[in-house]
Amino acid sequence: MTDLPEDNAALVQCWGRVTQRMRHDIGDAAWRNWIKPLRVNRLEAGTLTLETDSTLTRERVNSQYADRLRVISAAEFKTMASGVNHVEVRIAKALAQRTDRPHRMSEQKPVQKTPSKDKSYDLSAGLDPRYTFANFVVGKPNELAFAVARRTAESEKVAFNPLFLYGGVGLGKTHLMHAIAWHIRQRNPARKVMYLSAEKFMNRFVQALRFRDTISFKEQFRSVDVLMIDDVQFISGKESTQEEFFHTFNALVEDGRQVIVSADKSPTDLEGMEERLRSRLGWGMVADIHPADYELRLGILQSKAEQAQVEISDKVLEFMAHRIVSNVRELEGALNRILAHAMLIGREITIDSTADLLADLLRASSRQISVDVIQKRVAAHYGVRVSEMFSARRARNIARPRQIAMYLAKNLTSLSYPEIGRQFGGRDHTTVMHAVKTVENLMKSDAQLSEDVELIKSILAS
Ligand code: ADP
Ligand code: MG
Repeated sequence: MTDLPEDNAALVQCWGRVTQRMRHDIGDAAWRNWIKPLRVNRLEAGTLTLETDSTLTRERVNSQYADRLRVISAAEFKTMASGVNHVEVRIAKALAQRTDRPHRMSEQKPVQKTPSKDKSYDLSAGLDPRYTFANFVVGKPNELAFAVARRTAESEKVAFNPLFLYGGVGLGKTHLMHAIAWHIRQRNPARKVMYLSAEKFMNRFVQALRFRDTISFKEQFRSVDVLMIDDVQFISGKESTQEEFFHTFNALVEDGRQVIVSADKSPTDLEGMEERLRSRLGWGMVADIHPADYELRLGILQSKAEQAQVEISDKVLEFMAHRIVSNVRELEGALNRILAHAMLIGREITIDSTADLLADLLRASSRQISVDVIQKRVAAHYGVRVSEMFSARRARNIARPRQIAMYLAKNLTSLSYPEIGRQFGGRDHTTVMHAVKTVENLMKSDAQLSEDVELIKSILAS
């Protein structure tokens, strides 16, 4: 392994992919217990060294997961100079080695600080290796936030102070914050970056008060080059924490250090925040992340499916992008479910199986789409009367739109075949099944029809 800092980041990134695949393979619970506590340490001469603090973890990983880890690592570390043909798990040597960083930095900087102080500079604590700029999919709704985050991470001098990122839940704020931290750490490991949630900030402050240790608390925070506070709305209504944060903030900014803050609302909308703090937070660059639109949702799904190296058809991804509109976190959760299924079952994933697997999520997001609305939309599109949806007429120019409406009802609602049949003039469930099959087949052979259906679908979903 070479000595470039880039290699550390690459190592951590490859390892991130390995643990994700393990997660899909062995399930969340086992993953959390045995794989998550592992840290990547080094890759040398084909041996990937992982560390943990617990002998129990080491034993269990060796006895149960070693083979799988080796196989997946061999695939995921292909891009590194040295491939992986052996995986070793060892017990971290507490302070002699900074175990939660890849080895280069730990060798370079044997720890001399006291443990408690040391923790505050521990950049990788709580940083997710998957949350990098490279893994962030950019689209219209987040391009501004992405651009300013990148700029902040790249510039040696303080760019915008503070940088304030805001947006609804699950839209990528934390991802961008971590990406900034990773990037700075990779470019310049000497810069002290501290990332923590506002909640942690408050807990530490409260602790310091309790142990009458506010001096070292202040010192800790005021000696960093970059301070990142995630979810600052958490300290709304918490006056003394706000007060302390305000002073820390001012001290850093006045001293030319970078401050980066995220929140779920813009500075002016942060209720329960002191006026002077709100206005101070808005002084630098304020960038918001909008909810992902269809294109971005699809882009994110494609990129994540590709990363997982699982073949999922475009149709399925499009279906999900249309139907799961709440936020990226939920979209990701849905995709993970599909990926896990694909890997376990090894059979091709279809729209039908996706709809089954995601029934609960789809129900939640399709509450508004009713058969009634589908019928109206389809009728309007084909220029037929809505009443034809219930009629017994079988002329092609009427039967076809009716079949399409049934197909959409099956795909966009969670109703069963008989339930759908009832809403189409009391038709039998086999008629509905036949309609769904017919439209599915036609969509493969008839480009015009397929386009029509997709169009109606996207209008209904928006
Ligand atoms: P927030 O902090 O805004 O609530 P997160 O940063 O935790 O949201 O994002 C939720 C999940 O969605 C994370 O797993 C994150 O990686 C993912 N995510 C959000 N936006 C994107 C994006 N543009 N590209 C890739 N992944 C994203
Ligand atoms: Mg967050």
